[in-house]
Amino acid sequence: MLMNQTKATPDEIESILKFKEKLSIDVIEDCEEKQLVTILEEDLPDPKAVDLCEFHFSDFPITEHGLIKCGLRLFFEINVVEKFKVPVEVLTRWMYTVRKGYRSVTYHNWRHGFNVGQTMFTLLMTGRLKKYYTDLEAFAMLAAAFCHDIDHRGTNNLYQMKSTSPLAKLHGSSILERHHLEYSKTLLQDESLNIFQNLNKRQFETVIHLFEVAIIATDLALYFKKRTMFQKIVDACEKMETEEEAIKYITIDPTKKEIIMAMMMTACDLSAITKPWEVQSQVALLVASEFWEQGDLERTVLQQQPIPMMDRNKKDELPKLQVGFIDFVCTFVYKEFSRFHQEVTPMLNGLQNNRMEWKSLADEYDAKVKVMEEEVKKQEEGNMTEKGAYDERVVDKQLKRYSKDGERVSNSTNELPKHLTS
Ligand SMILES: [Zn+2]
Repeated sequence: MLMNQTKATPDEIESILKFKEKLSIDVIEDCEEKQLVTILEEDLPDPKAVDLCEFHFSDFPITEHGLIKCGLRLFFEINVVEKFKVPVEVLTRWMYTVRKGYRSVTYHNWRHGFNVGQTMFTLLMTGRLKKYYTDLEAFAMLAAAFCHDIDHRGTNNLYQMKSTSPLAKLHGSSILERHHLEYSKTLLQDESLNIFQNLNKRQFETVIHLFEVAIIATDLALYFKKRTMFQKIVDACEKMETEEEAIKYITIDPTKKEIIMAMMMTACDLSAITKPWEVQSQVALLVASEFWEQGDLERTVLQQQPIPMMDRNKKDELPKLQVGFIDFVCTFVYKEFSRFHQEVTPMLNGLQNNRMEWKSLADEYDAKVKVMEEEVKKQEEGNMTEKGAYDERVVDKQLKRYSKDGERVSNSTNELPKHLTS
């Protein structure tokens, strides 16, 4: 029933695939598939104009409706529409319905879903990882990437468990990821949404299997287990003489292909951390805001003290947390991918630049805290006279703002640049 409510309506489909307006035909069944492909492709954005094939792509200048068109463009770019006989009406309805399946939460919304799809496309094409995969596999990987966080509630797996949400009762592990997967598979059970409807049984089963592996792989808890396996593949390929040798070594073994694909999903899911600083700094604040909202729920609903990452009273620690996240989680992913395929190096460069930016903000904050602590010490030692004309009220005000227990009097966040706090 819920699925029927989110399914794209005829008017919504017409807003993308304008057969009434452009062909003056009232019923879509009366249109020829060729005509529909032509009018759809005319209205889809030019990849070059919006940097669709670039790792530095930003969704900021594009509307959410525009991103549906960008998503459709990517399926044409990987040449799967004609090859696997995907009816464009079904493709449009599916893409629009995936968009509607995302809730308007602060971070895990359609924009995030789209970005993961766009990065998967860019890794395959610009990053040249497509050479290990068939067209069918690339088709499944792109579709799975778009769906990977569908119907996300803006709270994490631990919150589902602690709040004993219905989803936690349904799934024992990787709770949300299993839900995103089930939701995606349910969409495909409706033939009017099934973009894989013209595949044979074996092909369809391959697609479903890849959806399972790819979407479950986005559970970060599983990332640490798979990263050594990925490193071994990269090590082995580095020693090889020719590209053909590496392709053979990987394509002959379905397990290796799945490990690489799983790591690609992680690289896509975390890709905001590799974007130009103007983008990363703003997206990081969205991620943090969603965490702080969860922290608020933990306090009010669960009556628990949130961890520092989810505690809005500790928002000044964001730069330090970002540096830690880059060092302990992200660096490995983009270093290994750049070693595997030098075409992926722009992601590593972006990451390292953002680390520098976050580190300098973290250092700036530490320096301020240090100064404040020294002032406290001096005050306690009764050395106020030595400081001459220092305004005591200023020190007092600052101390309240930076007090370590997070009981901040003012909610100004002078420690972060303006665009981060607006
Ligand atoms: Zn995600």
